[in-house]
Amino acid sequence: MWAFRSAATILSLAGLLFGCSAPSADPTASVYSGGDILTMAGHQPVYVEALAVRDGKIVAAGSKAQALKAAGRGARQIDLKGATLLPGFIDAHSHMLNYADSLVQANLNPPPVGGVRSIADIISEVGRLKVSMKAGDGVLLVGQGYDPDQLAEKRHPTAEELDMAFPNNPVLLMHASGHMLVANTAAMKIAGIDASTKDPEGGAIIRKPGTTEPQGLFQETAMHPFIPQVQAPRPLDENLVLIKRALGHYAANGYTTAAEHLVMPDKMPLLQAAADRGILTIDVEALPAYLMADQLVGTGKIRWGELKNGLKWAGLKLATDGSPQGKTAYLTKPYLTPVPGCKTDCRGFPNIPQDELNRLFVLAYRNGVQLYSHCNGDASIDMMIAAHRFAEKDLGIVDFNRRTVIIHSQIMRPDQLVAYKSLGLLPSFFTNHVFYWGDVHLANLGAERAAYISPMASAMKAGIKATNHTDATVTPVDPMFLAWTAVNRTTRSGQVLGPDERVTPYQALKAMTLNAAYEYFEETSKGSLETGKTADLVLLDHNPLKVAPDAIKTIRVVETVKSGRSVFKAP
Ligand SMILES: [Zn+2]
Ligand SMILES: [Zn+2]
Repeated sequence: MWAFRSAATILSLAGLLFGCSAPSADPTASVYSGGDILTMAGHQPVYVEALAVRDGKIVAAGSKAQALKAAGRGARQIDLKGATLLPGFIDAHSHMLNYADSLVQANLNPPPVGGVRSIADIISEVGRLKVSMKAGDGVLLVGQGYDPDQLAEKRHPTAEELDMAFPNNPVLLMHASGHMLVANTAAMKIAGIDASTKDPEGGAIIRKPGTTEPQGLFQETAMHPFIPQVQAPRPLDENLVLIKRALGHYAANGYTTAAEHLVMPDKMPLLQAAADRGILTIDVEALPAYLMADQLVGTGKIRWGELKNGLKWAGLKLATDGSPQGKTAYLTKPYLTPVPGCKTDCRGFPNIPQDELNRLFVLAYRNGVQLYSHCNGDASIDMMIAAHRFAEKDLGIVDFNRRTVIIHSQIMRPDQLVAYKSLGLLPSFFTNHVFYWGDVHLANLGAERAAYISPMASAMKAGIKATNHTDATVTPVDPMFLAWTAVNRTTRSGQVLGPDERVTPYQALKAMTLNAAYEYFEETSKGSLETGKTADLVLLDHNPLKVAPDAIKTIRVVETVKSGRSVFKAP
């Protein structure tokens, strides 16, 4: 003991006398300098001269002399060469496993994400998938991302059209929102659906006019019978390869934390296997679906909130309504355009009855499990607020730190933002909607409601730690495009939707860094470049705060670093 202390004293004395630092045992110890280093700590932009990384952690953010000393002798000195260094992006909400699946599905997105402009294009994309898969009769073909508003026909494809092109293969086309799908007759047969099938609670089967025969479109919970087909088991090794490729794509876009926010029962062991085998090169925040609430909450089956081998079961995922562009989001006032399958007072519908929502809130809050809910329409948001109040009253505990996340919070009212603030509810916004569907929202909702979609500026002004998300695969995994939509709020047709809700580039970055860390209860370990935090970094070719607002979407990722190790380098 004495000898050790003595040696340590001599070493530290030597350090004082000669000004040299202790050698670093970490071969990845690094000092970054030579570019803008934006810490994202604080309300205003703060830059430091240098950043030191050692043993996967940030050990200094300050002057170069401080950084060199903290990194230790022998640390690599990395010249940013004018690149901008930021904390790695944190994905506040997306569906990483859907992205992995999409790697073996037809891309039915309209430009700029894909090339589909008509139903004929859909048929040819699915045909190309069939050829590339060498799919024989009976093999399921899945397409993802079709958007009727962007098709020449301005409608959903029908089962009949798919039957004509693919009479011997089940075909499922996922709508861009993920809240509805079109199935052909072969897929319906496998799912056991015919003209006698009734609409399930929280869902709708669209029928051929004047008959009960399904036309092909299945909304919300009516999609459930098809899930076993879409998620047909694939060999584990194939799945792991797809997950690896998916995370590589997130990392190439600067994400050091990805989200998988609707884990179905059969995917839980898959994610766990990926973590156990060291496949998760960046962190994954996973939310099991609420269908498993009673098996998972309060039963000790999983450890909630613990990040291990890159995987965290962050909370429980609910979905209380549908999508605004699909006109299934639940509103207090009707849609202004015709709604498929609805004749009067068409306001969408809730996916979960209020009583059940209340029960789930009590269950989660009692067991300290964080809640996340997909929730778009203001009527659905009212239900969430009511459920929160019900649960706190039931338990007799008011707690502002539950951080219940209302994912999307799109068609909000100003009074609901006041409630969020007073109750500690967190919005995760989806400003990409303004670009992709802003023009559609204007038609469907009218100017006032459309302008207030994803009201990020109002939320931040109120001091709410709002986040922003891509909801991939609904929109691409592209944080710079996401920041661009938050800052510019330009629609496809080029109009600015809700100019008052535009945020500054710094606020847009906050929503993808420190605020997103807060959403995950990780603000002490992630989200900013501060001593003691994990060395999750992204290098960009330009500084988002210094380019013209419209150029933010052209910024490219140069390198992504997870826990001090490079996980992506631009070629
Ligand atoms: Zn959603
Ligand atoms: Zn989603």
